[in-house]
Amino acid sequence: MQGRADRLRMSGRRIGFVPTMGFLHEGHLSLLRIAKAQCDVLVLSVFINPAQFGPHEDLEAYPRNLEHDLDLARQEGVDVVFVPADKTLYQENYQSYVELEKLPGHLCGLSRPVFFRGVTTVVCQLFNIVKPHVVVFGEKDFQQLVIIRQMVRDLKFDVEILGGPIIREEDGLAMSSRNAYLKPEQREAALSLSRVLVQSEELVAAGMVESKKLVENARQFFAQYGDIEVDYISICDTETLEEIAEIKNSALMALAVNLKGTRLIDNRVLSC
Ligand code: AMP
Repeated sequence: MQGRADRLRMSGRRIGFVPTMGFLHEGHLSLLRIAKAQCDVLVLSVFINPAQFGPHEDLEAYPRNLEHDLDLARQEGVDVVFVPADKTLYQENYQSYVELEKLPGHLCGLSRPVFFRGVTTVVCQLFNIVKPHVVVFGEKDFQQLVIIRQMVRDLKFDVEILGGPIIREEDGLAMSSRNAYLKPEQREAALSLSRVLVQSEELVAAGMVESKKLVENARQFFAQYGDIEVDYISICDTETLEEIAEIKNSALMALAVNLKGTRLIDNRVLSC
Protein backbone atom coordinates (compact mmCIF):
# COMPACT_ATOMS: atom_id res chain seq x y z
CA MET A 1 0.00 0.00 0.00
CA GLN A 2 2.81 2.40 0.86
CA GLY A 3 4.62 1.61 -2.40
CA ARG A 4 1.44 2.09 -4.38
CA ALA A 5 0.72 5.39 -2.61
CA ASP A 6 4.27 6.60 -3.37
CA ARG A 7 3.90 5.77 -7.05
CA LEU A 8 0.48 7.45 -7.25
CA ARG A 9 1.83 10.57 -5.59
CA MET A 10 4.86 10.66 -7.90
CA SER A 11 2.59 10.51 -10.91
CA GLY A 12 0.71 13.53 -9.58
CA ARG A 13 -2.44 11.65 -8.62
CA ARG A 14 -4.60 12.92 -5.74
CA ILE A 15 -5.44 10.17 -3.25
CA GLY A 16 -8.84 10.19 -1.52
CA PHE A 17 -9.38 7.93 1.48
CA VAL A 18 -12.27 6.63 3.60
CA PRO A 19 -11.30 4.55 6.66
CA THR A 20 -13.96 2.15 7.97
CA MET A 21 -14.47 -0.96 10.06
CA GLY A 22 -16.43 -2.56 7.23
CA PHE A 23 -19.95 -4.03 7.12
CA LEU A 24 -20.62 -1.15 4.78
CA HIS A 25 -23.93 0.70 4.54
CA GLU A 26 -25.18 3.83 2.79
CA GLY A 27 -23.45 6.03 5.40
CA HIS A 28 -20.06 4.67 4.37
CA LEU A 29 -20.97 4.83 0.68
CA SER A 30 -21.91 8.50 0.99
CA LEU A 31 -18.39 9.21 2.27
CA LEU A 32 -16.89 7.29 -0.66
CA ARG A 33 -18.91 9.47 -3.05
CA ILE A 34 -17.73 12.66 -1.36
CA ALA A 35 -14.12 11.47 -1.56
CA LYS A 36 -14.49 10.31 -5.16
CA ALA A 37 -15.47 13.82 -6.25
CA GLN A 38 -12.26 15.18 -4.69
CA CYS A 39 -9.61 12.76 -5.90
CA ASP A 40 -8.15 10.73 -8.77
CA VAL A 41 -7.66 7.50 -6.84
CA LEU A 42 -10.08 6.33 -4.17
CA VAL A 43 -8.88 4.14 -1.29
CA LEU A 44 -11.14 2.40 1.23
CA SER A 45 -9.78 0.66 4.30
CA VAL A 46 -11.60 -2.07 6.20
CA PHE A 47 -10.05 -2.73 9.58
CA ILE A 48 -11.73 -3.58 12.87
CA ASN A 49 -9.28 -1.82 15.12
CA PRO A 50 -8.75 -3.80 18.34
CA ALA A 51 -7.11 -0.81 20.04
CA GLN A 52 -10.37 1.15 20.12
CA PHE A 53 -12.39 -1.54 21.88
CA GLY A 54 -12.46 -1.80 25.66
CA PRO A 55 -12.10 -5.23 27.33
CA HIS A 56 -15.87 -5.71 27.72
CA GLU A 57 -16.91 -4.26 24.36
CA ASP A 58 -18.06 -5.95 21.15
CA LEU A 59 -14.77 -6.57 19.29
CA GLU A 60 -15.52 -10.27 18.74
CA ALA A 61 -19.19 -9.77 17.86
CA TYR A 62 -18.66 -6.77 15.55
CA PRO A 63 -20.42 -7.60 12.24
CA ARG A 64 -18.22 -8.58 9.30
CA ASN A 65 -18.88 -9.29 5.61
CA LEU A 66 -15.79 -8.59 3.54
CA GLU A 67 -17.14 -10.15 0.34
CA HIS A 68 -20.16 -7.86 0.37
CA ASP A 69 -17.97 -4.87 1.26
CA LEU A 70 -15.77 -5.61 -1.76
CA ASP A 71 -18.84 -5.79 -4.03
CA LEU A 72 -20.10 -2.45 -2.77
CA ALA A 73 -16.62 -0.93 -3.11
CA ARG A 74 -16.48 -2.11 -6.72
CA GLN A 75 -19.88 -0.58 -7.44
CA GLU A 76 -18.74 2.75 -5.97
CA GLY A 77 -15.63 2.82 -8.12
CA VAL A 78 -13.16 2.32 -5.29
CA ASP A 79 -9.67 1.78 -6.75
CA VAL A 80 -7.94 0.18 -3.78
CA VAL A 81 -9.38 -1.63 -0.77
CA PHE A 82 -6.81 -1.86 2.00
CA VAL A 83 -7.55 -4.68 4.45
CA PRO A 84 -4.60 -5.00 6.82
CA ALA A 85 -4.19 -7.89 9.25
CA ASP A 86 -4.12 -7.04 12.96
CA LYS A 87 -0.45 -8.06 13.05
CA THR A 88 0.42 -5.66 10.23
CA LEU A 89 -0.75 -2.62 12.17
CA TYR A 90 0.05 -3.89 15.67
CA GLN A 91 3.11 -6.02 15.21
CA GLU A 92 4.74 -7.78 18.12
CA ASN A 93 6.12 -5.36 20.71
CA TYR A 94 3.96 -2.50 19.38
CA GLN A 95 4.28 0.47 21.77
CA SER A 96 3.22 3.75 20.19
CA TYR A 97 -0.10 5.49 20.87
CA VAL A 98 -1.37 8.94 19.96
CA GLU A 99 -3.52 10.66 22.56
CA LEU A 100 -5.19 14.07 22.74
CA GLU A 101 -5.30 15.91 26.05
CA LYS A 102 -8.78 17.39 26.29
CA LEU A 103 -11.24 16.42 23.57
CA PRO A 104 -11.51 12.73 24.57
CA GLY A 105 -12.59 13.87 28.06
CA HIS A 106 -16.16 14.47 26.85
CA LEU A 107 -19.12 12.51 25.45
CA CYS A 108 -18.13 8.99 24.33
CA GLY A 109 -14.64 9.30 25.83
CA LEU A 110 -16.08 9.23 29.36
CA SER A 111 -17.60 5.77 29.08
CA ARG A 112 -15.10 4.44 26.51
CA PRO A 113 -11.73 5.42 27.99
CA VAL A 114 -9.49 3.72 25.40
CA PHE A 115 -11.67 4.45 22.38
CA PHE A 116 -10.24 7.70 21.03
CA ARG A 117 -6.65 6.73 21.79
CA GLY A 118 -7.28 3.68 19.62
CA VAL A 119 -8.91 5.76 16.89
CA THR A 120 -6.20 8.43 16.71
CA THR A 121 -3.48 5.80 16.79
CA VAL A 122 -4.90 3.76 13.93
CA VAL A 123 -5.76 6.86 11.91
CA CYS A 124 -2.13 8.05 12.20
CA GLN A 125 -0.94 4.67 11.02
CA LEU A 126 -3.41 4.64 8.13
CA PHE A 127 -2.37 8.16 7.09
CA ASN A 128 1.27 7.02 6.99
CA ILE A 129 0.38 3.97 4.93
CA VAL A 130 -2.25 5.31 2.51
CA LYS A 131 -0.65 8.79 2.24
CA PRO A 132 -3.95 10.44 1.30
CA HIS A 133 -4.45 14.02 0.16
CA VAL A 134 -8.06 14.08 1.34
CA VAL A 135 -9.88 11.92 3.92
CA VAL A 136 -13.60 11.83 4.64
CA PHE A 137 -15.12 11.05 8.05
CA GLY A 138 -18.82 10.96 8.99
CA GLU A 139 -20.54 13.49 11.23
CA LYS A 140 -22.34 10.51 12.77
CA ASP A 141 -19.21 10.21 14.92
CA PHE A 142 -19.03 13.95 15.54
CA GLN A 143 -16.51 13.73 18.39
CA GLN A 144 -14.25 11.54 16.28
CA LEU A 145 -14.32 14.10 13.47
CA VAL A 146 -13.49 16.97 15.85
CA ILE A 147 -10.65 14.92 17.36
CA ILE A 148 -9.17 14.01 13.97
CA ARG A 149 -9.29 17.65 12.83
CA GLN A 150 -7.49 18.69 16.03
CA MET A 151 -4.87 15.95 15.65
CA VAL A 152 -4.22 16.91 12.03
CA ARG A 153 -3.81 20.55 13.09
CA ASP A 154 -1.59 19.72 16.07
CA LEU A 155 0.68 17.21 14.36
CA LYS A 156 0.82 19.04 11.00
CA PHE A 157 -0.46 16.19 8.88
CA ASP A 158 -0.47 17.35 5.27
CA VAL A 159 -3.98 16.15 4.64
CA GLU A 160 -7.40 17.68 4.13
CA ILE A 161 -10.21 16.40 6.37
CA LEU A 162 -13.80 16.54 5.15
CA GLY A 163 -16.96 15.71 7.09
CA GLY A 164 -19.97 13.96 5.55
CA PRO A 165 -23.55 14.40 6.86
CA ILE A 166 -25.31 11.64 8.82
CA ILE A 167 -27.17 9.23 6.53
CA ARG A 168 -30.39 7.90 8.02
CA GLU A 169 -32.87 5.14 7.34
CA GLU A 170 -36.25 6.33 6.06
CA ASP A 171 -37.65 6.26 9.58
CA GLY A 172 -34.84 8.50 10.88
CA LEU A 173 -32.53 5.93 12.50
CA ALA A 174 -28.91 6.90 11.86
CA MET A 175 -27.27 4.14 9.85
CA SER A 176 -24.68 2.13 11.73
CA SER A 177 -23.08 -1.27 11.35
CA ARG A 178 -24.20 -1.92 14.94
CA ASN A 179 -27.88 -1.60 13.89
CA ALA A 180 -27.46 -5.23 12.79
CA TYR A 181 -27.62 -6.11 16.51
CA LEU A 182 -31.13 -4.64 16.86
CA LYS A 183 -34.09 -6.99 17.12
CA PRO A 184 -37.25 -5.89 15.23
CA GLU A 185 -39.04 -5.16 18.50
CA GLN A 186 -36.21 -2.79 19.53
CA ARG A 187 -36.65 -0.57 16.49
CA GLU A 188 -39.17 1.74 18.12
CA ALA A 189 -36.86 2.36 21.06
CA ALA A 190 -33.88 2.87 18.73
CA LEU A 191 -35.85 5.57 16.91
CA SER A 192 -36.10 7.59 20.11
CA LEU A 193 -32.63 9.09 19.50
CA SER A 194 -33.48 10.76 16.21
CA ARG A 195 -36.91 11.71 17.55
CA VAL A 196 -35.39 13.43 20.59
CA LEU A 197 -33.08 15.38 18.29
CA VAL A 198 -35.89 16.54 16.00
CA GLN A 199 -38.05 17.44 18.98
CA SER A 200 -35.19 19.36 20.61
CA GLU A 201 -34.65 21.31 17.44
CA GLU A 202 -38.31 22.31 17.46
CA LEU A 203 -38.09 23.32 21.13
CA VAL A 204 -35.03 25.46 20.44
CA ALA A 205 -36.80 27.11 17.51
CA ALA A 206 -39.70 27.83 19.87
CA GLY A 207 -37.33 29.57 22.30
CA MET A 208 -36.24 26.86 24.74
CA VAL A 209 -32.50 27.56 24.76
CA GLU A 210 -31.51 26.40 28.28
CA SER A 211 -29.62 23.15 28.11
CA LYS A 212 -30.99 21.93 31.46
CA LYS A 213 -34.56 22.02 30.15
CA LEU A 214 -33.66 20.38 26.85
CA VAL A 215 -31.70 17.62 28.59
CA GLU A 216 -34.56 17.03 31.04
CA ASN A 217 -37.04 16.82 28.18
CA ALA A 218 -34.83 14.26 26.42
CA ARG A 219 -34.41 12.25 29.62
CA GLN A 220 -38.19 12.04 30.02
CA PHE A 221 -38.57 11.00 26.41
CA PHE A 222 -36.11 8.13 26.87
CA ALA A 223 -37.77 7.13 30.16
CA GLN A 224 -40.78 5.92 28.15
CA TYR A 225 -38.64 3.04 26.94
CA GLY A 226 -37.78 0.59 29.68
CA ASP A 227 -34.96 -0.99 27.67
CA ILE A 228 -33.03 2.24 27.18
CA GLU A 229 -30.20 3.13 29.48
CA VAL A 230 -28.92 6.64 28.83
CA ASP A 231 -25.14 7.06 28.72
CA TYR A 232 -25.17 10.80 28.05
CA ILE A 233 -27.34 13.62 26.79
CA SER A 234 -25.08 16.57 26.11
CA ILE A 235 -25.51 20.05 24.74
CA CYS A 236 -22.06 21.29 23.98
CA ASP A 237 -19.84 23.56 21.94
CA THR A 238 -19.29 22.19 18.42
CA GLU A 239 -15.51 22.72 18.63
CA THR A 240 -14.43 22.25 22.26
CA LEU A 241 -17.28 19.79 23.08
CA GLU A 242 -17.57 21.51 26.48
CA GLU A 243 -21.09 21.62 27.88
CA ILE A 244 -22.89 24.92 27.56
CA ALA A 245 -25.69 26.24 29.76
CA GLU A 246 -27.59 28.11 27.09
CA ILE A 247 -27.62 27.95 23.30
CA LYS A 248 -26.58 31.30 21.85
CA ASN A 249 -26.26 30.66 18.11
CA SER A 250 -25.80 26.96 17.74
CA ALA A 251 -24.69 23.95 19.75
CA LEU A 252 -24.25 20.24 19.33
CA MET A 253 -26.80 17.96 20.92
CA ALA A 254 -25.14 14.56 21.28
CA LEU A 255 -26.76 11.39 22.58
CA ALA A 256 -25.55 7.93 23.52
CA VAL A 257 -27.71 5.15 24.91
CA ASN A 258 -27.48 1.45 25.51
CA LEU A 259 -30.39 -0.55 24.22
CA LYS A 260 -30.13 -4.03 25.72
CA GLY A 261 -26.40 -4.18 25.08
CA THR A 262 -26.38 -2.27 21.76
CA ARG A 263 -24.70 1.10 21.95
CA LEU A 264 -26.41 3.74 19.81
CA ILE A 265 -25.22 7.30 19.24
CA ASP A 266 -26.68 10.21 17.32
CA ASN A 267 -26.29 13.98 17.18
CA ARG A 268 -27.55 17.15 15.59
CA VAL A 269 -26.43 20.74 15.53
CA LEU A 270 -29.22 22.83 17.05
CA SER A 271 -29.48 26.45 15.93
CA CYS A 272 -31.56 29.31 17.24
P1 AMP B 1 -17.17 2.81 11.10
O1 AMP B 1 -17.07 1.74 10.06
O2 AMP B 1 -18.38 2.72 11.98
O3 AMP B 1 -15.89 3.02 11.86
O4 AMP B 1 -17.39 4.16 10.29
C1 AMP B 1 -16.51 4.56 9.28
C2 AMP B 1 -16.85 5.96 8.87
O5 AMP B 1 -18.20 6.02 8.41
C3 AMP B 1 -16.74 6.97 10.02
O6 AMP B 1 -16.16 8.18 9.52
C4 AMP B 1 -18.18 7.16 10.43
O7 AMP B 1 -18.43 8.42 11.02
C5 AMP B 1 -18.89 7.06 9.09
N1 AMP B 1 -20.30 6.73 9.26
C6 AMP B 1 -20.83 5.69 9.95
N2 AMP B 1 -22.17 5.74 9.92
C7 AMP B 1 -22.50 6.84 9.19
C8 AMP B 1 -23.76 7.45 8.81
N3 AMP B 1 -24.92 6.94 9.17
N4 AMP B 1 -23.70 8.57 8.05
C9 AMP B 1 -22.51 9.11 7.70
N5 AMP B 1 -21.32 8.59 8.03
C10 AMP B 1 -21.31 7.48 8.76
